[in-house]
Amino acid sequence: EIAVDLALIESRIRDVPDFPHEGILFKDITPLLAHREAFAAAVDGMSAPFRAEGVDHVVGLEARGFIFGAPIAMALGAGFVPARKAGKLPAKTIDRSYDLEYGTATVEIHADAIAPGARVLIVDDVLATGGTGRAAVELVRKAGGTVVGFSVLMELAALRGREMLPDVEPHILLSV
Ligand code: AMP
Repeated sequence: EIAVDLALIESRIRDVPDFPHEGILFKDITPLLAHREAFAAAVDGMSAPFRAEGVDHVVGLEARGFIFGAPIAMALGAGFVPARKAGKLPAKTIDRSYDLEYGTATVEIHADAIAPGARVLIVDDVLATGGTGRAAVELVRKAGGTVVGFSVLMELAALRGREMLPDVEPHILLSV
């Protein structure tokens, strides 16, 4: 087991009130990304539990899941697959829609990105309501992949996103 400096990581996450809407406390990870040791600690902590899991692909959720997902893929010797908002990927895609507070959103991956039976780790920065994570799990399964885990930097525990992922057991570095 590696010792991850959680206090360092937490100290580099900035709370921004009322962004992007009044009443939202936005967790800004850009100070963490800019700090060499903190970013490395976050990538280590998010990838370490999956080192012996034989991960074939890391699926990163647009957009901040890309930033963590790519170095985690390198650390695990895995490939990286972007899961994007509708209409952004150029080739044939498969998609999954999910409910937001108002309306719906759609997440897509390329149809040929995940081979049947491939072992997939899903990565994002923040677990809030869990709607995005749930959709990503369903999308990977629809593509024929096996979800071996869901790794996030931080959960907003009051929103109870874990309850949306009972079959996945998320790995979470910080709970706030
Ligand atoms: P959810 O689907 O509610 O779990 O929301 C997760 C997605 O929204 C993640 O991709 C996060 O990056 C983003 N997100 C939700 N709430 C916040 C927040 N308070 N601060 C930063 N990002 C957030």
